[in-house]
Amino acid sequence: MRQTPFLPKRPLKVAVLGSSGAVGSELLKILEERDFPISELRLLSSERSEGKKVKWKGEELLTKNTTDKEFFNIDLVLASAGGSISRKWLSTIKDQNAVLIDNSSAFRLDNDVPLVVPEVNSGDALKHNGVIANPNCTTILLTLVLSPLNNISTIKRVIISTYQSVSGAGQLAMEELKLLTERYLKGDPQNSQVLPYSLAFNLFLHNSPMLSNNYCEEEMKMVNETRKILNMPDLKVSSTCVRVPVLRAHSESINIEFEGIVQPKDALEKLSQSAGIEIIEDYENNRFPMPNDVMGRDNVAVGRLRADISHPNGLELWLCGDQIRKGAALNAVQIAELLIPDK
Ligand code: NAP
Repeated sequence: MRQTPFLPKRPLKVAVLGSSGAVGSELLKILEERDFPISELRLLSSERSEGKKVKWKGEELLTKNTTDKEFFNIDLVLASAGGSISRKWLSTIKDQNAVLIDNSSAFRLDNDVPLVVPEVNSGDALKHNGVIANPNCTTILLTLVLSPLNNISTIKRVIISTYQSVSGAGQLAMEELKLLTERYLKGDPQNSQVLPYSLAFNLFLHNSPMLSNNYCEEEMKMVNETRKILNMPDLKVSSTCVRVPVLRAHSESINIEFEGIVQPKDALEKLSQSAGIEIIEDYENNRFPMPNDVMGRDNVAVGRLRADISHPNGLELWLCGDQIRKGAALNAVQIAELLIPDK
């Protein structure tokens, strides 16, 4: 049992587990950009990446295969190597009295693991027992918008359709989309190996495992994680998740039913004052958020707020957010910052 939720008040020994992946590479960038207090940074991946050199703050760091000794004396582990790898190293990390901030879904719904979006439920971060979970990427973007709107009028029901970029499936999936797009244009065969089907000039429903209720895992993550983050266990949520041939940044079409009437202009004003959100809304020129607007950027772009013509208490809106950044790496580093005393 940790004595304090905070990290030590000194530059920290930090490990990025999964450092060579899509989220891991972004974690390294963000730690540098935000000048996170680090005395030693350890880059851990699989044996495939052993010896890979990475420039960080002007230094050349070597990527190591992940073994027990790499966690010795560590203070903080930012993990993005998948759930089974996080589970495998959890007790080793806990033995060092370190904190694990985990990007996988392995611990997200555990009762003693906070699931945190700092702009929404930062207080939960301090209730951890060595593990804090970073929510699913689409859920982070969604709750960032739902939370302020819920302060105007209580939300009763949310229906979401996602348009998820290929980078949500990792680095290799991005490479595959580029390759298969080239092949498509040359008229060559489209045999995909990373994703189940080619995404080149195509889209398909999210490829996470199908559950007994005919929702896929990704869709149910949005349901269950949204309820936990907003602390609204009975909130009605339904989602349809789709992969689209966009390299980076997810989009979501969101329909919200409130207890009372929420005027689009009030919702717009509220969101424009909320941390992590920017508005892109120009009806005259038909210009609203696009993935290219947010690629590599921290803010989630929101627009197209309009009254739902099918329900008096309904609101429609559209968002785009860089899911590797705010949907994963940035959110994880923001959580870590909450654990730094006096920050
Ligand atoms: P990725 O690009 O495929 O990267 C996976 C990373 O895990 C690589 O660094 C890989 O190392 C490492 N790894 C694989 N097997 C390992 C092992 N046995 N021991 C140690 N490291 C190992 O995947 P990603 O997209 O970054 O996703 C990583 C995690 O974040 C997943 O749990 C994913 O669900 C979650 N996530 C992803 C996103 C997103 O937008 N991509 C958003 C939110 C959450 P090698 O390169 O050496 O194989």
